[in-house]
Amino acid sequence: MSESSKDCDFCKGKTATGIFGKMQTNYSYSSANLFPMGEYHELFFARKHDFLKLDYVEFKDLMYMPIKWFEKVFQKNSNFKYPCKIFDL
Ligand SMILES: [Zn+2]
Repeated sequence: MSESSKDCDFCKGKTATGIFGKMQTNYSYSSANLFPMGEYHELFFARKHDFLKLDYVEFKDLMYMPIKWFEKVFQKNSNFKYPCKIFDL
């Protein structure tokens, strides 16, 4: 796992910018989805390469960022009021 992290674009945040720019914290960030399933479809990444090594604060941060993003979507278009998170490892 540590060998693959040194060239990992996701760890470095080298991803496409989403519709609200790149939301970022010290532990996670948002990215555009290049193959969206709908009008609003964003990706959220932890900065730590090995997901199983996230601590509580890092995991909580990653889970909270989409909520902030959902709020922005709702402000832009109030028809989108049923958010959905898909968790993928
Ligand atoms: Zn990585």
